[in-house]
Amino acid sequence: MSGPSGDLPFDTTTLLVGGRWRAASGGRTLPLANPSDGSALARIARGGAEDVDAAVNAAQAALDGDWGRLTAAERGRLLAAMGRKVLERVDELARLEALDVGKPLKQGRADAIALARYLEFYGGAADKLHGQTLPYLNGYTALTLREPHGVTGHIVPWNYPMQIIGRSVGAALAMGNACVLKPAEEACLSALAFARLADEAGLPAGALNLVPGLGEEAGAALSAHAGVQHLSFTGSVATGRRVQAAAAQNTIPVTLELGGKSPQIVFADADLDAALPFLVNAGIQNAGQTCSAASRILVERPVFDTVVARMAERYRALRVGPALADLDVGPLISARQHEIVAHYLALARDGGLAIAAQGEVVADAPAGGWYVRPTLVANVDAQHALAQQEIFGPVQVVIAFDGEAEALQIANGTPYGLVAGVWTRDGGRQFRMARGLKCGQVFVNNYGAGGGVELPFGGVKQSGHGREKGFEALYGFSTLKTVAIQHG
Ligand code: NAD
Repeated sequence: MSGPSGDLPFDTTTLLVGGRWRAASGGRTLPLANPSDGSALARIARGGAEDVDAAVNAAQAALDGDWGRLTAAERGRLLAAMGRKVLERVDELARLEALDVGKPLKQGRADAIALARYLEFYGGAADKLHGQTLPYLNGYTALTLREPHGVTGHIVPWNYPMQIIGRSVGAALAMGNACVLKPAEEACLSALAFARLADEAGLPAGALNLVPGLGEEAGAALSAHAGVQHLSFTGSVATGRRVQAAAAQNTIPVTLELGGKSPQIVFADADLDAALPFLVNAGIQNAGQTCSAASRILVERPVFDTVVARMAERYRALRVGPALADLDVGPLISARQHEIVAHYLALARDGGLAIAAQGEVVADAPAGGWYVRPTLVANVDAQHALAQQEIFGPVQVVIAFDGEAEALQIANGTPYGLVAGVWTRDGGRQFRMARGLKCGQVFVNNYGAGGGVELPFGGVKQSGHGREKGFEALYGFSTLKTVAIQHG
């Protein structure tokens, strides 16, 4: 990686089009802040419609050129090489992510390792998605071919850039698409680093193009571009709707990975020792800024007080501080996110809700950082705003229930349907709950264990549609052509 920018390992102010790093047209840039102290971290390119247009053209040229000529096995080998490059640079990537997103170093490391694992997984899968031959009329042979869409657009948020790039760009490249990536304006350093590593690994020019910039400029231009044949969007419901409306104008498919209000449901027969770490970690990981955060904990009444008391004990031990101090929780991403979380905490206080426990911000946390105390709120009505709306901060509500039917009714009773967790030793109930929950992923007696690179992921209702991760993503990032040959 070349061209230092402050104490960062490369020039952060350029974008990547057709294998060439250059300034945004008009030379415009945007500031990037360090969430741990509010200081200026770097400047990034402020790509606009012209840059997006150039990136889409470069992607198409790659499809018509070197990239498009590679065999599936050759693409797989390249992805595997990219994965190895990422593994060699885990510490550097983790530090960048910590500085940029504010996440503790250990989470940055986990994200970098997950990125490598996606590349390894999709590298191995690239030549294993087959078409079919179909029984048809006499004198005919009919078959299906899996083909890339062509140019794919990837709009990603700031909370897990590396993981989301791995699952979306990794799968798209495996299927032979050429990608235009629009990272978030709040955090995009690991995306810039990733594109450099891909180049070092030998990815042909134009197979991956990168245009940082504002959502309403670069993002909107990418989602409306007539040269794009598929869009993958991860972010908020409101923006997802805009992206889908833009995609509709070009009648192209779109994968929407949106928000959630995911429950973990604890029955009285659960192994509480096993459940406790998952209940709390899934709420406070990345300061609660996780689409699949378990922001609602539903507890069967006989064990309600015990679970609240044991979660509270863990909450009181949580330490919040700068990302590089690598504590339990880092700062929120921005002043805006801080305001949103403060609004919900004020709602809890003003509405007389019971704050069961809070973690502590360490005394020497820089004053300019966007820190918030992780907060556990007990005895919340299932219809309360805190139990219905995505907060995107380290705030969990605990809701009591009686029996399976009520658990399902509460769990399914939000506009979202992303993930759910169920804790019970009863085998029959495990299946009944797994079938009854309206969401994209159910974890029984775990929650997100192992990271789930292999497991298809996505939502129902306002959490979105389409699936990424796992082998399933390869169907989404390809299209099917049917061929019927009359041969007498
Ligand atoms: P956001 O929708 O504001 O931004 C996401 C991306 O969209 C950014 O790159 C942004 O620049 C871009 N964007 C903004 N306006 C746009 C427009 N008009 N056209 C095209 N692109 C535009 O989301 P956010 O607040 O940054 O991210 C948090 C949200 O993302 C939460 O709701 C969270 O649950 C969700 N999320 C979902 C998943 C998932 O896999 N389901 C994963 C991570 C985050």
